[in-house]
Amino acid sequence: MSDSVQASIHHIHSRMKKAAIGHDRALGDVTLIAVSKRQPDERIEAALSFGIRHFGENKVQEAYTRWEGRRGQYPDLTLHLVGPLQSNKAKDAVALFDMIHSVDREKIARVLSDEMGKQGRDIPCFVQVNTGEEPQKSGIAVGALDDFLQYCRGDLKLNIAGLMVLPPVDAPPALHFALLRKLARRHHLTQLSMGMSDDFEKAIALGATHIRVGSSIFGARAPV
Ligand SMILES: *Cc1c(COP(=O)(O)O)cnc(C)c1O
Repeated sequence: MSDSVQASIHHIHSRMKKAAIGHDRALGDVTLIAVSKRQPDERIEAALSFGIRHFGENKVQEAYTRWEGRRGQYPDLTLHLVGPLQSNKAKDAVALFDMIHSVDREKIARVLSDEMGKQGRDIPCFVQVNTGEEPQKSGIAVGALDDFLQYCRGDLKLNIAGLMVLPPVDAPPALHFALLRKLARRHHLTQLSMGMSDDFEKAIALGATHIRVGSSIFGARAPV
């Protein structure tokens, strides 16, 4: 198992390199986040021993159990929250994570800002944009983004690093990546969290600075 995780990481790195070279991007400008949600421990150990230090999780509690004890051993760990956050978990999220990719509504922005103030933390955040206008999906509608960013940056003084998208499953992702890049430029935001196992090369081509790759590194996840 650990051999296959390391082979997968090797393969992802070469795909990243190829995409970067092909689209005039510096490889150093793209961070690979290994999304470790619902993966067994031995696969995570394999990734750690191969030098991976950026990990993504989508549940605060699961992330705590897995990562809190490893901080001491790996001081350069960077933990990314990539899933929707409930306000009653904001305190733990602020204590644990180094980047939050899923700021998707006013209430969560407010609670995060309060918690960061209390804990003396200033965590870079991404605003999730619902570019597909999907009713069941979290994220800020494109038309509401200006006001939302103004609220986060102006009123709450949140550290907004960039934008994040999870494109609709049945649509060509490139259109959504290109729209996210356009929106980010308009707001002078430099970071783009976009691209997963099946589409990260397209995301790199369109300016991704953070790609979130799970199953292509670790294999299939345990069911929810
Ligand atoms: C699970 C997840 C990923 C990783 O998905 P894969 O298809 O396994 O690469 C990326 N982003 C988010 C927000 C996720 O929840």
